[in-house]
Amino acid sequence: MNLHLHNTYTRTKELFEPIDPASVRMYVCGPTVYDDIHIGNARPLVVFDVLARLLRHRYGKDAVTYARNITDVDDKIIDRALENGEGIDVLTARTAANFHVAAAEIGCLPPDVEPRATDHIPQMIAMIEDLIAKGNAYAAEGHVLFNVPSMPDYGKLSGRNRDEMIAGARVEVAPYKQDPSDFVLWKPSTDDQPGWDSPWGKGRPGWHLECSAMSKEHLGASFDIHGGGVDLVFPHHENEIAQSRCAHPDESFARYWVHNGYLMSEGEKMSKSLGNFYTVSDLLKEFPGEALRLALLKTHYRQPLDFTKDGVREARQELNRFYRALALDPDGAGDVGAIPTVVLDGLSDDLNTPLALTGVHAAADAVFAAEKEGDAAGLMVAIASLRAAGSLLGLLEHDPHVWFQGDGDEAIDALIEERNAARADKDFARADEIRDELDAQGIVLEDGAGGTTWRREN
Ligand SMILES: [Zn+2]
Repeated sequence: MNLHLHNTYTRTKELFEPIDPASVRMYVCGPTVYDDIHIGNARPLVVFDVLARLLRHRYGKDAVTYARNITDVDDKIIDRALENGEGIDVLTARTAANFHVAAAEIGCLPPDVEPRATDHIPQMIAMIEDLIAKGNAYAAEGHVLFNVPSMPDYGKLSGRNRDEMIAGARVEVAPYKQDPSDFVLWKPSTDDQPGWDSPWGKGRPGWHLECSAMSKEHLGASFDIHGGGVDLVFPHHENEIAQSRCAHPDESFARYWVHNGYLMSEGEKMSKSLGNFYTVSDLLKEFPGEALRLALLKTHYRQPLDFTKDGVREARQELNRFYRALALDPDGAGDVGAIPTVVLDGLSDDLNTPLALTGVHAAADAVFAAEKEGDAAGLMVAIASLRAAGSLLGLLEHDPHVWFQGDGDEAIDALIEERNAARADKDFARADEIRDELDAQGIVLEDGAGGTTWRREN
């Protein structure tokens, strides 16, 4: 099945055709490293990690370049460092390191390139000079601004008209702007702010410009996919398009604009005052990273997602079931088999992860069915297929025995609870299945008057 992706630019689901199938290129806006990421930031990380895995599967590992930047110069960073009373370098180094840990814990592979804004200042200055030379930008009072009316197509990605754009900007129109919608490419730095020498004095780049310069440097002026959260469509991505297309008028810049939907938390907009503001590192103290990942993937990426801790608990139960299936592998060979069709087709249809996950459940069903029938060869095929399905989604990457040990007694208690519920529902087949699965892990159950107790017999 061909790959289709929804393109924000055309507002339609389109057949994905890379510029060069031997070099498929995707750029995703990465974190501004001033604070630890929250679960809302984790959503695009996981979504585009799945897309990168799918692209590698389709075009080959070496044919895909996934670039995700780190913004390490920004006013938020300057303000936070001042607040914390620490150096900017200390703050950005620590936050970037924490980011890498969190991303790995939720199963995201490192991108192929991870450019840092501060390593690309000369490219940014060159791009600004180019935009000035072409008549799309102008210097004023130590600033350089992009002149929005110089680009007739401006606003096409977000679908905003000029009045809407100006209405948003009017409150803070600076006197040096030629047009109220003009935005900053370069701004002056005082002595205590990070700054670089430039033709316009000591200063620093605007955020939008950073991504235009870094994507050009690592993927070229035309590339395939640009991704990010829907909150970046305006102004960030609109401005990236303006800069990159005006600097390189003969190039397409990104051809497919892919955006994930908003994330709410416990039914409301996430906010520190509501107590529903979850950082990934805090959630990881309570849940395995794969459970967070699965909870995020259960909603289609374009839909709004309501993240709840109950949802993570549910995801964890599902993973327990998948890992119980994997634990039935008698020699633990870890072979990876054929990816089930529904998983591949689901992902190829605009990353339909809910559909793909039905394929993972079906693969687990097939494992338990083969086990029940005593079909040893079928069991091995089914387990390998389950593993392949998980791998494309970045799930089931742990050794099942380590998964359950890491889970500790809590998982065993949860299984006993599930077995009690099954018995109450007179689903004795499921109750026996759980007893057998626990038995396979060396856990022996004893049903007594006071309830069920268990002991480990290894
Ligand atoms: Zn960006």
